[in-house]
Amino acid sequence: MQLTLRDICKTYPNGVQALTNVSLTIPVGMYGLLGPNGAGKSTLMRTLATLQEADSGTAMLGDIDVLQCKDDVRRTLGYLPQEFGVYPHASALSLLDYFAVLKGIGGRGARRDVVESLLHQVNLWDVRHQKLRGYSGGMRQRFGVAVALLGNPKLLIVDEPTAGLDPAERVRFLNLLSALGETSVVILSTHIVEDVSELCTRMAIIDRGRILLEAEPLQAVTDI
Ligand code: ADP
Ligand code: ADP
Repeated sequence: MQLTLRDICKTYPNGVQALTNVSLTIPVGMYGLLGPNGAGKSTLMRTLATLQEADSGTAMLGDIDVLQCKDDVRRTLGYLPQEFGVYPHASALSLLDYFAVLKGIGGRGARRDVVESLLHQVNLWDVRHQKLRGYSGGMRQRFGVAVALLGNPKLLIVDEPTAGLDPAERVRFLNLLSALGETSVVILSTHIVEDVSELCTRMAIIDRGRILLEAEPLQAVTDI
C-alpha cells in the first residue's frame, strides 16, 4: 500500500497558483511535508482530506483515487486539522461516540469498544467525562487524534499539528502518531524541521506550490 500523487494542480479564484504538478510517492510510515508559510501545505492536505477540490491530478491509495470523494473512500481517511477547537460543551466520551456514529461504526457494543480503546490510547480515559472546554491544547490535540483514528484509517493527514503544544505535549503527541505510521500512510505537514527529522522516514520540501526535493530527512539536510 502506498499513496501516489500525480500532477495535482490548484489555482485559487484570485489567481494564486497554490499547487503546481505535485507528484509524490508516499509509502506506509511517517512522511513529512515541510515548507514555509504559504507554500501550499494546507491546500494539499485539505485536498487529500477531500475537503476541497483540486483542478486536476490523482491521488491513488492502492487502486482507489482519494480525490474522487466517495463516501466509502472518506471512511478510510483520517484528518487532523491544525486545531481541534469545536464543541466546547461536549465531553470527550460523548463527542467521540458521536463522531463514531458519523463514521458509520455500527452496533452500539462495537462502537463502545472502539471509543473506549481510543480514549485509552490517547491517554484521555481519566478525563473522558470532562468537557472539552476545560482541556489544554495538548489534550485537545490528543482528542483530535482519537477522532482521526476512528475506523482505522489507511491514510492519516495531519496538518501542522504541533503549533501551540508545550514540549512535553509535543513529544507525547508525536509518539502517538509514529505508532500509527507502522501500519498506515501518515502525512505530517509542518514548517518545523525537527518534527520531520525526529520522526519521518521520508520527506518532501514544498515551496510556492512545487515539490523542490524528496528524500530521507538526513539526506535532505545535507543536500540543502
Ligand atoms: P501553507 O499551508 O503552506 O501555509 P496554503 O496552502 O495555506 O499554504 O496557501 C498556499 C497559497 O495559497 C498562499 O499563497 C495562500 O495565500 C493561498 N491561499 C490559500 N487558501 C486560499 C484561498 N482560500 N483563497 C485564495 N488563496 C488562498
Ligand atoms: P494555512 O496556512 O494553514 O492555510 P492561513 O492562516 O494561511 O492558514 O489560512 C487560513 C484560512 O484562510 C484558510 O482557510 C485558507 O484557505 C484561507 N486563506 C489563506 N490565504 C488566503 C488568501 N490569500 N485569500 C483567501 N483566503 C485565504
